[in-house]
Amino acid sequence: MHDIWNPWHGCKKCSEGCQNCYMYFLDKMRDKNGAEIYKTKAGFKYPLSKHRNGQYKVKSGEMLRVCMTSDFFLEEADAWRDDAWDIIKKRPDVKLFLLTKRPERVAEHLPPDWGEGWENVMFNVSCENQRRADERIPILLKLPFKHKGIMCAPFIGAVSIKKYLASGQIEQVLCDGENYGGSRPCHYEWVKALHDECSEYNVTFVFCGTGRCFVKDGRTYHLEGSVQSEQAYKSGLSFQGKHIDYILTDEYGNRISEDDMYKPYFGEKCQCCGMRIACNGCSKCGKCIDPLSRKKLIVVVKKLLLR
Ligand code: SF4
Repeated sequence: MHDIWNPWHGCKKCSEGCQNCYMYFLDKMRDKNGAEIYKTKAGFKYPLSKHRNGQYKVKSGEMLRVCMTSDFFLEEADAWRDDAWDIIKKRPDVKLFLLTKRPERVAEHLPPDWGEGWENVMFNVSCENQRRADERIPILLKLPFKHKGIMCAPFIGAVSIKKYLASGQIEQVLCDGENYGGSRPCHYEWVKALHDECSEYNVTFVFCGTGRCFVKDGRTYHLEGSVQSEQAYKSGLSFQGKHIDYILTDEYGNRISEDDMYKPYFGEKCQCCGMRIACNGCSKCGKCIDPLSRKKLIVVVKKLLLR
């Protein structure tokens, strides 16, 4: 399983949602400055990386989330973006999840042969509150993309998107509370209202996580780690709406059959994870295993290795 492709790292804060940016938080923990923007070395060509047998590491049908520690349409990345578009074009069999807070820059930074959009790209705008939703979604609706979505994260204010859902262009809505260095409250009522609007238009809705501070029925809950996605799952609000039909092909334009597509694996912990509907599956990294079980697991593995 492969999940994230970061062709560049670092970013400039541009809206309320950036205030407690997790990239800045994690960089600070490494004594780095998130405002330092650089092109990644080994990671830049990640979707094209191959095994010794010549097979691509990222399998057909997998979903890669792009620029999760930056923004794909960041001005400082203008010099690198054409090469990134080339890589996306070379993998018409892989889904790419783009997310931006800068939709106003997109029209000027699409590849010359973009046309009405490439089938393997899902383009999303961040809508952390109503102001940013009303600023960014109208631009999203005018842009030539085959697949469009909305990401309300960090979810720091009520957001109504009903009038935009009526366009029939939006195929997926994700929301998630604030995490890492921030914990501005996410209210259950906001999530429920967004869910109700999406179900009215049968648009896939994914409540990924509550965030560290979750308010429900006037009570505030402080939640850490995987409890956030478990509680989101238990809300029962996430649902799969109309099927999103990605037409994925090989390099010759032949459509990839469902049988040849990557099938995500979901482990025990994934069974009650709010993010599951929009997730590329479990990489069996073991991070979600509780410390005691992990310790036991390590002992077993070591014994096996010593045999
Ligand atoms: S756009 Fe994203 S990566 Fe950039 S500062 Fe804002 S939250 Fe961080």
